[in-house]
Amino acid sequence: MSSPSSPIDRQTLIATLRDYVEQLREEGMEGLPAASSSTQATQPRASAPAAIENTATASASTPRSVELFSKYPGLEATSSLENLREFIGDCARCKLAPFRKNLVFGVGDPDAQLMFVGEAPGADEDARGEPFVGRAGQLLTDIIERGMGLRRSDVYICNVIKCRPPENRNPEPDEVASCEPFLFQQIETVRPRAIVGLGAFAVQAVLKVKTPISKMRGNWQDFRGIRFMPTFHPAYLLRNPGDKRLVWADIQEVMRFLEMPIPRRGGTPS
Ligand code: URA
Repeated sequence: MSSPSSPIDRQTLIATLRDYVEQLREEGMEGLPAASSSTQATQPRASAPAAIENTATASASTPRSVELFSKYPGLEATSSLENLREFIGDCARCKLAPFRKNLVFGVGDPDAQLMFVGEAPGADEDARGEPFVGRAGQLLTDIIERGMGLRRSDVYICNVIKCRPPENRNPEPDEVASCEPFLFQQIETVRPRAIVGLGAFAVQAVLKVKTPISKMRGNWQDFRGIRFMPTFHPAYLLRNPGDKRLVWADIQEVMRFLEMPIPRRGGTPS
């Protein structure tokens, strides 16, 4: 009989363990609860704007997890947005890298209660290294500042994809697969109370659904215990200004959830 430390037993042990982990994965388990979750989730957010400050966070009851099947080992251990940005580095993990001028990581309050997630940088964003700074970005800024009465710097803004696809084509599945772990880690790090998904691409990529945006908008969804509100993309609103009232209704719903005062004669800016 072989001892537990003999090579044959070690191999059997590894194979058994691999089978077991594979079985957990097939059963839908993605991670193990992390001990530090509740401490982090309930810490006060000193820099949150008074208008949306609220300590009863949805995340308090939602344990974070240690991912078992990380695409990028070490990613989930990054504990701040700065660490995460360093982890991403001068990224060449997908085929968009050679085309970009700047990697567009994200901007705003790292402790924001509210996060906006768009699709991918366009030409203006690529040139400046900042999300939503072109025409659609100006409309988003107006929604945040003139509509919601916040500063752009009070919220957190980022995209599913961090590099501009050439000719502004839609991001491809392999590019999404390469980049989405960074978005998910950004969300885990900021842990906002609510996320607004801007447009079909972002909503479908984050929620892993194919439902049309016209069916989903205005209806709360859940992303890992965080309230997620799908709405139309500001670029769509530039082409269809008549639908601004729908986006304003969605934004008001988010403001109600965040217990923000809603201006009596509000509306998405023209
Ligand atoms: N559209 C997006 O989805 N993101 C940006 O950053 C700019 C335009």
